[in-house]
Amino acid sequence: MIVLREVIQQFGGRIVLDIPELCFEPGRRYGLIGENGSGKTTLIRLLAGTLHSSSGKIVGLNEKRIGYLPQSPYAFSFSVLQNVMMAADGHGNARDLAKSALSAVGMESLMNARGDRLSGGEAQRMALARVLVRSYDVLLLDEPTSATDVRSMDLIEQTLQDAIQKTHCTLIFSTHSPAQAKRLADEVLYLEKGRIVEMGNAEELFREPKDDRTRAFLQHWSLKS
Ligand code: ADP
Repeated sequence: MIVLREVIQQFGGRIVLDIPELCFEPGRRYGLIGENGSGKTTLIRLLAGTLHSSSGKIVGLNEKRIGYLPQSPYAFSFSVLQNVMMAADGHGNARDLAKSALSAVGMESLMNARGDRLSGGEAQRMALARVLVRSYDVLLLDEPTSATDVRSMDLIEQTLQDAIQKTHCTLIFSTHSPAQAKRLADEVLYLEKGRIVEMGNAEELFREPKDDRTRAFLQHWSLKS
């Protein structure tokens, strides 16, 4: 189990995340929702270890294999295939693994293209393929489909579901789409101004949010879509 205690993140003296206590159970899928600036990326970065909290503790991640898809993934100037093979480095069959991960995200036709010259959506799918070539205990995905068109979205969501089912990893992802959280998550966390306003079973939270702020956010979103 991953546990956060009294975790506070400040930037320039401003508190952007304040989590008194939070637990992530192994093998469950958690979706983070909330407006821009609510702290989703910050929370994911703290879990990924690319950011160290101003105070507080995160336990349960030591010795865990962590896969992390940042919001703006880095791409090397090699081919797409090589970019993905690098992530599978050490495996005898890195090439086959990379090819099959690329095909799972619909990128097989771009295998020989340069990794750093892809469109935003393609770069995101390549980065996802990099994550998929290995198995992890914990998968952290920051808006995995933010740049993806609707057709690729189905494929990517299915690919993620398959990977999770196969590896039984814990999934923690952020999304700007409550509908995606509903499709992919067991548990949903609604963040506002760096605080978790509500956390609960995905189906229940969407059907009957307990907090007025969650209800207002979801209502706003359903009016927009
Ligand atoms: P979300 O992912 O929900 O859009 P973020 O976690 O990215 O929110 O950001 C939360 C708040 O923290 C925002 O107000 C953002 O401007 C601020 N923030 C995030 N990273 C930094 C940083 N490196 N320096 C200063 N402020 C930051």
